[in-house]
Amino acid sequence: MSVQSSEIVSLPLLGRSKTELTEWVQQQGQPAYRGKQLHEWIYDKGVRSLAEISVFPKQWRAALETIDLGRSQLHYRSVSRDGTVKYLLRLSDGQIIETVGIPTEKRLTVCVSSQVGCPMACNFCATGKGGLLRNLHTHEIVDQVLTVQSDFGQRVSNIVFMGMGEPLLNDENVLKAVRSLNQDVGIGQRSITISTVGIPGRIRRWADHHLQATLAVSLHASNQEVREKLIPSAKQYPLKALLEECQEYVEITGRRVTFEYILLSELNDLPQHAIELANHVRGFQSHVNLIPYNPIKEVDYKRPSPKRVQDFVTVLKQEGVAVSVRQTRGLEADAACGQLRASTLR
Ligand code: SAH
Repeated sequence: MSVQSSEIVSLPLLGRSKTELTEWVQQQGQPAYRGKQLHEWIYDKGVRSLAEISVFPKQWRAALETIDLGRSQLHYRSVSRDGTVKYLLRLSDGQIIETVGIPTEKRLTVCVSSQVGCPMACNFCATGKGGLLRNLHTHEIVDQVLTVQSDFGQRVSNIVFMGMGEPLLNDENVLKAVRSLNQDVGIGQRSITISTVGIPGRIRRWADHHLQATLAVSLHASNQEVREKLIPSAKQYPLKALLEECQEYVEITGRRVTFEYILLSELNDLPQHAIELANHVRGFQSHVNLIPYNPIKEVDYKRPSPKRVQDFVTVLKQEGVAVSVRQTRGLEADAACGQLRASTLR
């Protein structure tokens, strides 16, 4: 996880640890304790510019004004009736990404993007329609959380990597961001979830980091045939191989995997699908999270009725599977799962 020192010079300050910030202030000819102050003002107070750090000497502050902290610009903000807030953030190169803040009684969850766009092209997902533009840098991921935290004026409690992008295709930066969100922003690793559609070999590689964070795998189908219809990359990564890699993950980390399963009416929500799914995950330290499909305009899949969802849950429970249903949030702001796209309002 260490960054080469030549690389540090060109990277913004956001995303750096207290030790790295301390080294940086010392390079600027300042005493080491200014590193701790810098850390506090960046991560706890959430300053957007170094010139705002009033505990720093005036002269130095003036010099710091030109240093890039790495915060993005708020481009657009919309609030859903349920209080979910969608943000479009403009990055330093003009690219736009989406972030969602999801408040509940006790929590504030941030749904973060890991890439600008996504190359996976899952046919039920709006993000995939535009392809991949680029990976996000570590500071661009951390910035999303600080933006939501300061907008809500409340500490973020949970993070889900379920915004735009496929996190395991940008695993190095996602890993550094998880470190920073945990150690710098102060969010417990167990309150962080990384969601992946599955990239051959990457779940295994992720396991080797032994994180306490949760791994969620987007399964969405109970057999290879249906999965291939929904997820083009499934052709190169058979369900059997994906499940084997998940099993390895459980063995290496000792942590259970969450399987995400979008329910699409008639397509994958029949009792036989629930039984097929149960047969895959039985005896697996896992948990199934059902996601009733959120409509996007490009495809005409249907969200199942609440009764069909409940019937699916009942069969899974009868089959001994731990299951929950994800509550839909942010639907009117087009901020729900799978509805994020950068093309709107650019
Ligand atoms: N690329 C990662 C993370 C981004 S998507 C992944 O595939 O897991 C986060 C979750 O939202 C995934 O489970 C994804 O399949 C789901 N999702 C995508 N489009 C959706 C839609 N239209 N309705 C409901 N969930 C959707």
